[in-house]
Amino acid sequence: MKLSHQTIELNPTHPFVIARGGYSHHRNVIVRLADDDGIEGYGEAAPNRYYGESVSTVIAALGQFKPVLERADPFSLESIEAHLNRILRGNASAKGAVSSALHDLVGKRLGLPVFRLWGLDASTTPESSFTIAIAENHELEMRVAEARDYPILKIKLGTDRDMEIVRIVRSAAPKKRLRVDANAAWTAKHAVRMSDFLAEQGVEMIEQPVAANDIEGLRFVRKRSKLPVFADESCLAASDVAKLTGAVDGINIKLAKCGSLREALRMVHAARALDMQVMAGCMIESSLGISAIAQISPLLDYADFDGAALLSNDPFRGTSIAGGTIRLSGEPGLGASPAPSVDLSAAFQGA
Ligand code: MG
Repeated sequence: MKLSHQTIELNPTHPFVIARGGYSHHRNVIVRLADDDGIEGYGEAAPNRYYGESVSTVIAALGQFKPVLERADPFSLESIEAHLNRILRGNASAKGAVSSALHDLVGKRLGLPVFRLWGLDASTTPESSFTIAIAENHELEMRVAEARDYPILKIKLGTDRDMEIVRIVRSAAPKKRLRVDANAAWTAKHAVRMSDFLAEQGVEMIEQPVAANDIEGLRFVRKRSKLPVFADESCLAASDVAKLTGAVDGINIKLAKCGSLREALRMVHAARALDMQVMAGCMIESSLGISAIAQISPLLDYADFDGAALLSNDPFRGTSIAGGTIRLSGEPGLGASPAPSVDLSAAFQGA
């Protein structure tokens, strides 16, 4: 296989601000793997500074993976993944892009969508939430109005006016299902106090109330909270799931954290074995990245696949979450392709 890549610029419709800050544009890396007979697989890396990644770390990792991928049989998905993990620790977004491209290629070679190869039924996907990022009070109502087609809103919190934000969203969307994500910004005691208020507001779950390494804090919150507690920043890969037993009600899986579609499946099964619920989410990414993680959506209780829906310039078409309904493409592989107006072919570079 030949490995090449290109960097793309993604523009969210509004700056995407969470408790740690935010950006008005994002740069992701598209990975292409081309087999000798011309079949191509695509994947997207959404590097996140919080996890120590950037466009340059992704490109450097791809350079290290190239010799392995050039010699590999794409169907040897498990052994390729093990090999990449021996070469480099971490670098989950780069590995996730390679894993996506390999699965895309294998699915295209077999003429089947990846979710079908896994025996999954696309009609059993949960609805996706749509994120209301942190914004000034006067902007929040407008954001909620723009999200009118989405039945579930996920509100980003972790500010000194969290209650005000929730009240504004709730009064603008009195009937919608609401979730909140504090992105590790609260103390455990504050989270418990917030859970009483959030329960009164009809919020259905709290994501990552406390710091990523504060597992005892999660346990403290879960014991006292009226709402289910989910781990995101505390749960990167399958090896993190067991230590969260009893500390959370569920986990949030992302390709940019776990580094492969196979690891995402392992996380689902690890969580189920420990009686936990399962959610999957995304970073700011195009419909290519969303189409990759969405392959596991029939296995989920909750989905948060709005990364591409938040963009004003999505360069791919594939899985859609219009109106909150996850529609997996029936096309082979990940079912994603460049948008009609986009010509990506000229810009790929050898890694
Ligand atoms: Mg989160």
